[in-house]
Amino acid sequence: MNMYIQPDYEVVRDESKCIACRVCERQCANLVHSFDPDTGKMKADSTKCVNCHRCVCLCPTHALKIVKSDDTYKINANWDNQTINEVYKQANSGGVLLSSMGNPKPYPVYWDKMLVNASQVTNPPIDPLREPMETQIYLGKRSAKIERDKKGRLKNTLSPQLKLQVPIMFSAMSYGSISYNAHESLARAAEELGTFYNTGEGGLHKDFYRYGKNTIVQVASGRFGVFKDYLQSAAAIEIKMGQGAKPGIGGHLPGAKISADVSETRMIPQGVDAISPAPHHDIYSIEDLRQLVDSLKEVTEYKKPVIVKIAAVHNAAAIASGIARSGADIIAIDGYRGGTGAAPTRIRDNVGIPIELALAQVDQRLRDEGIRDEVSLVVGGSIRSSADVVKAIAMGADACYIGTAALLALGCHLCRTCHEGKCNWGIATQRPDLVKRLNPDIGYKRLVNLVTAWNHEIQEMMGGMGINSVEALRGNRLMLRGIGLTDAELRILGIRYAGESM
Ligand code: SF4
Ligand code: SF4
Repeated sequence: MNMYIQPDYEVVRDESKCIACRVCERQCANLVHSFDPDTGKMKADSTKCVNCHRCVCLCPTHALKIVKSDDTYKINANWDNQTINEVYKQANSGGVLLSSMGNPKPYPVYWDKMLVNASQVTNPPIDPLREPMETQIYLGKRSAKIERDKKGRLKNTLSPQLKLQVPIMFSAMSYGSISYNAHESLARAAEELGTFYNTGEGGLHKDFYRYGKNTIVQVASGRFGVFKDYLQSAAAIEIKMGQGAKPGIGGHLPGAKISADVSETRMIPQGVDAISPAPHHDIYSIEDLRQLVDSLKEVTEYKKPVIVKIAAVHNAAAIASGIARSGADIIAIDGYRGGTGAAPTRIRDNVGIPIELALAQVDQRLRDEGIRDEVSLVVGGSIRSSADVVKAIAMGADACYIGTAALLALGCHLCRTCHEGKCNWGIATQRPDLVKRLNPDIGYKRLVNLVTAWNHEIQEMMGGMGINSVEALRGNRLMLRGIGLTDAELRILGIRYAGESM
């Protein structure tokens, strides 16, 4: 016997506005809406609704809204509706609860507890409309000192670098977890913006090799889609050791999303769940990691930087210290609010730490050990606005990865059901009828608009601080003040309380 589970949301239709055009019926891949020929009216099955808002947005008469259900079990602070429903679901199915996108729990967001400084009178602000403002950055190892020969020519051999026109990249999202059109949008936007997108662990579709100079390819524990041409096609290679949404476990692509095209790109069977292992089976130490870094550099003739991506966990600083000594050029840290196409709900909601705390600890540890210039730091895991980017850079990041914000720009409404493969917005799906709903010509422009807008705001905020380059802002924690934070949180973040002067 399956226990009936009351839906979280209800579809409300204003009958005085509905013209029974059946748009909502055609648009909903979850089969919520249907036409009743007996009454000549539309009806809805709220139990199937995932609250993706597709019908609400496209209803020509604005007759629809989705509301939070006010049905409730007997009020109990210990056993809320969601907790009870999850027990019923597991008693019904006997399975692990799956979810997608980032951790939705009300944990503190430290970016919202930091305030940015502004110049007044002395060290005056800089007006980015009238004065130069540099947001171009390079990612990779930096030389400890500049050496020149007698003629003044540079003697240093520079390590391979990534050149970004904006301190923002699109984070790893695999073909399979997201659609062909979503990938095309990201690739074209990265090219136009002068930044990078990331294949995730899904391999690189043959059509996207032409975006190679703006592509970061990933090598994850399953080695899906990894071969020589794949590695050589990209601007950089990222070894994925962990992911913020699911630290300590491997990737999971449900079989429903493994179409023929995805299967060919990933080099895996069609229609069968692809679960990559939790560890890399050849990496059990920093020495093992060094061997993989060396192998990837060798196969790409030492021309491409290697990124090592880890999840933000309790001992991220010690791990990063080891990675900085492994020969990697860039460390990417992914916080626990980072998105995913599919993750066990318990892992997503209970494992890892906020990116703000991990970044503060990693940057400080690398500085204390005198190896901060050995690597660049890229952070992700719910970077939501240009203000988050500015604060992350002031905390010590060189650049940020954005994933969820990029998907929002493409039309995502954060319904958190990507793992079901029926994304009504054409993003997290492989169903051809749904994929075509996302027009890459429009998608890439929206991504370019988003990052361009953020870049303007970054320039304005830096100008307000009297700083004219991202490089000068990096690690400048004196520009930040905490508000509503405990002494322990201020100590870990390495910032002063609002009201404390320089
Ligand atoms: S899309 Fe709007 S007007 Fe058309 S059937 Fe649905 S609720 Fe009615
Ligand atoms: S990508 Fe699609 S399925 Fe995933 S959260 Fe966004 S709207 Fe929902």
